[in-house]
Amino acid sequence: MIYFLFLNHPKGEELYSVPHEREEMARRYFKNTDTIETEVSIKGKTYSAIVDYGVFSNLSNFDCFNCQDHCCADNPSKYEPQTRKFVLDNLEDYNSLTRNVDILMDLGYSIEEIKESILSDELMIPAEHVEEEISLCTCSFKPDNSSTICALHSLCLDKGMGTEGVLEYKPVICSLWPMEIFAEDDLSTLYITLPDDLTNGFVIEDYYSNACINREYGDSPQFRRMNPDGFDKDGYRPFIVSYADTIRYGLGERCYTDIRDSLLEDGLVSKQDFTSTSQQINKNF
Ligand code: SF4
Ligand code: SF4
Repeated sequence: MIYFLFLNHPKGEELYSVPHEREEMARRYFKNTDTIETEVSIKGKTYSAIVDYGVFSNLSNFDCFNCQDHCCADNPSKYEPQTRKFVLDNLEDYNSLTRNVDILMDLGYSIEEIKESILSDELMIPAEHVEEEISLCTCSFKPDNSSTICALHSLCLDKGMGTEGVLEYKPVICSLWPMEIFAEDDLSTLYITLPDDLTNGFVIEDYYSNACINREYGDSPQFRRMNPDGFDKDGYRPFIVSYADTIRYGLGERCYTDIRDSLLEDGLVSKQDFTSTSQQINKNF
C-alpha cells in the first residue's frame, strides 16, 4: 500500500510506502467502517475509490490567515512542468511574494541560472539551497512576516483563475491536503479518508495538532499561545462544505455528489449546511 499523495515527494519510496503495521490498521479500518464505492478523477486520470464518507461531515475551518502552523514546512512534491512554466511566466510577481529570485541573485546566481533552475531543479531552486535558504516550501511566503501562505495559490487568485487554476498549478498534495489517500501498489483502488480520532493511528498527518480539522485543539491553550486570537469559532463547517469545490474539481463531480448524497441520506449533514459560500480555496491575503 502507498500514500498516494506522497508519490511525487522528493524523498520517494522512503516516504510514500505505508509501513506494514499502518497498512494493517488502514485495511482493518476500511473493512469495518461505512464506505461508498465511487470513481475519482485526479489530474485527468480516473481511479476506483472507496471513500470513508462519514468523516467528510467533520467540522473544519481553514482559517489560514490566522494560523501560525507551518503546514507548508516541507517541499512536499517535485514540481510539474505546468507549474514551472506558470512561475516563469509570472516571475516578477512570484519574486515579489517569495523573494526567491532576489535571494539567489544575492548569492551570486545570474537570472539565466535562476530560470534554468526553475525549469529543471526538482524544487525549482538549486538543491544546495533548499534547506539553507528556505526551511519552508520554495513557493511559500509570509505576508507581513506572519502566517505562511502559498505563492502559487495567491498568484492564481490574483489572476482570476479560480479553483480550477489553483488545482492546475499547485501540487496535487497541497490542493487535496488534509485528505488522506491510500492506494494499492498498482493504483487499482484508492482509499480516501481524513485525519480524525479514529484514523490517526495510520494517516500521515497528526489530527491532534491541526486546528483546521480539530476544533478542540483550536480552542486549546497550547494552540492559543501560538495563535492568540484563535480561529473564528463560527467558521467551522462540515468538511464537504469547506472543501466543496476542491473535492469537485480535485476528485471529480461524481465523487463529490456521491459523498454529499450519502451524508444527506445518513443525516450527517443537512441541506442548510450547503448555503455557506466561504471556502478555503477562494480566500486570498
Ligand atoms: S489552517 Fe490548516 S491549512 Fe491553513 S495554514 Fe493552518 S494548518 Fe495549514
Ligand atoms: S501549498 Fe504552496 S507553499 Fe504550501 S507546500 Fe504546497 S506549493 Fe508549497
